[in-house]
Amino acid sequence: MQPLVELDHVNKHYGELHVLNDINVTIPKGQVVVVIGPSGSGKSTFCRAINRLETIDSGEIRIDGTPLPSEGRALAQLRADVGMVFQSFNLFSHKTILDNVTLGPIKVRGKSRKAAEEHAMHLLERVGIANQANKMPAQLSGGQQQRVAIARSLAMEPKLMLFDEPTSALDPEMINEVLDVMVELAKGGMTMVTVTHEMGFARKAADRVLFMADGKVMEDSTPESFFTDPQTSRAKDFLSKIL
Ligand code: ADP
Ligand code: MG
Repeated sequence: MQPLVELDHVNKHYGELHVLNDINVTIPKGQVVVVIGPSGSGKSTFCRAINRLETIDSGEIRIDGTPLPSEGRALAQLRADVGMVFQSFNLFSHKTILDNVTLGPIKVRGKSRKAAEEHAMHLLERVGIANQANKMPAQLSGGQQQRVAIARSLAMEPKLMLFDEPTSALDPEMINEVLDVMVELAKGGMTMVTVTHEMGFARKAADRVLFMADGKVMEDSTPESFFTDPQTSRAKDFLSKIL
């Protein structure tokens, strides 16, 4: 079967810094991947490269067998196919929750407003925010805003969802309401790449853990074997600090 995502000898530098160092990762459809590692290890760059928010110096990234496009309609299509949720919720602050979720499907996917709104309400229901649809983002809590951000990505019917520390800007009591939505998404078969330090999520939902350090994937294993039997001293050291 064709893998959904392939990174093939991917390298990227920021000046002297080798931020992605010969990354080779193949992700089959439906796999839930958690990326963990110390700050500065290249996790965000890894995610951003997959939807081409960052360019790479060498190697190739393919989605469904097709190398990432660099511009134009094909790039807009890629961004629709690969949803991304960031630490900061990045909602359109001057638009209602409903408009936040319908804008992309109407503009990029060419959906009618009626169809987009029906689908949006269904998604807002799924993330538990349907009763907030006509509010503005600032009227919602951080956890609610992040759930809207997830619904907004899902409205584009992505093939893949990237999450870059989606709960690290949230107050502790709001973390689980966002993680619960992500766990449901994972169970529903969504292909996901999630950078997170939430080990509960990794244990509950992940099929695979990638441990990054110094721009390299140092370990690539199941959550079970990563947490109980890390192979590298870098991973052992990291785990001893967070667990
Ligand atoms: P992580 O998400 O694992 O914390 P990042 O991928 O954000 O790591 O960054 C990896 C390294 O690359 C860090 O040392 C960071 O300072 C550096 N870096 C990230 N973005 C840029 C940039 N636009 N210009 C220069 N250096 C950058
Ligand atoms: Mg980061």
